[in-house]
Amino acid sequence: MDEIKEKILNVARQNPKGISDNDITAAIPELQSAELVTAMNELLKQECFDLFNQGGSLIYRLKTQSSKQAVKGADNEEKVVYNLIQESGNKGIWIRDIRLRSNLANTQLTKVLKSLESKKAIKAVKCVNASKKKVYMLYNLEPDRSITGGAWYQDQDFDLEFVDILNIQCLRFLNQRADSVKNNPRGPIVGRTQSYATVAEVQKYITDLGISKVQLDAEEVITILNTLVYDGKAESSVYPDGSKVYRAIESLIPPPGLVEVPCGVCPLIHKCSSQGLITPQDCNYITEWLDQ
Ligand code: SF4
Repeated sequence: MDEIKEKILNVARQNPKGISDNDITAAIPELQSAELVTAMNELLKQECFDLFNQGGSLIYRLKTQSSKQAVKGADNEEKVVYNLIQESGNKGIWIRDIRLRSNLANTQLTKVLKSLESKKAIKAVKCVNASKKKVYMLYNLEPDRSITGGAWYQDQDFDLEFVDILNIQCLRFLNQRADSVKNNPRGPIVGRTQSYATVAEVQKYITDLGISKVQLDAEEVITILNTLVYDGKAESSVYPDGSKVYRAIESLIPPPGLVEVPCGVCPLIHKCSSQGLITPQDCNYITEWLDQ
C-alpha cells in the first residue's frame, strides 16, 4: 500500500493544481479501484491533501508545507476557524457562517481571520454575484468558478474586451482551417468535412496563443464558438463519437443594412429623439456608420 500511496503522491506533485480520481487512474492504469479508495482514505487521514470541488468532481490538492506550517503554532480559536475554512474547500465560507459555527464573538473572529490572513494561511475572495460578500478559503486554493464568475469576469466585472478577442481568435482559427482545405483535390465533400475543427483543437490554439490568463475549459470554448454560430459566422455539427465540431461559413447574402444600424445596440436609444440633446442628426455612431 505504501508503494501505491507514493505513486499517487508523485502524480499529485506533478499536478500542483490538484488531481481527480480519473487523473490518478489515468496515470496509474494498473491501480484497482478498491486499492485507490483505500490509499486515498489513508492519505486523507494523514492530511496529505486539501479536498475541493471543481465542476462537480472531487479534486485532491497536495497540502503544501506552508499550509501545514500556517496552523502549527496557532491557538485553538485559529485552529477552529482554519478547519472550518478548510472544510469549505474552494467555494469558501462566509464570515457569518464561520461565526455561527465557531461561536466566536465578532471582534474575536475578526482578529483570528486577520491573523490567519497575515500568515497567508487563508484569503478573502469577493463573490461575483454579490459585490459586498466575500468568502474565506485556504490561501493556496483557486476559487471555484461560481465565486469568481469564471474566465469571463475580471475583478467581478464582465470582461467584454477579453470575450471579443477570444471571439475574433476562434473565428480566425476556423477561417484558417477553412482556407487550408479549400480546393481540396479529393472533392468538395472531403474539403467540407476537413474544414471542421474540434473543440480541443480550438482550445489548444487559444492556449498556445497565450491570450488567456486562465486556462479555458472545453465548455468555455464551446460558449465562444456558439456565439460565432449565432452570429452566422460558423456552423456546428456532431461527430459520430458525439463530440461537437465547428467550421467557418461564408454568409450567402450580406446582412441587410438595417441589421447593422448602430441604433440596435445603442445604450442611448431611449433618450434619442428627433429633438433634444441626443438626436440622429448629431449622432457620431450614425455618422461613422454612414461613412463606412
Ligand atoms: S441615432 Fe445615435 S444616439 Fe440615437 S439611437 Fe441611433 S445610435 Fe443611438
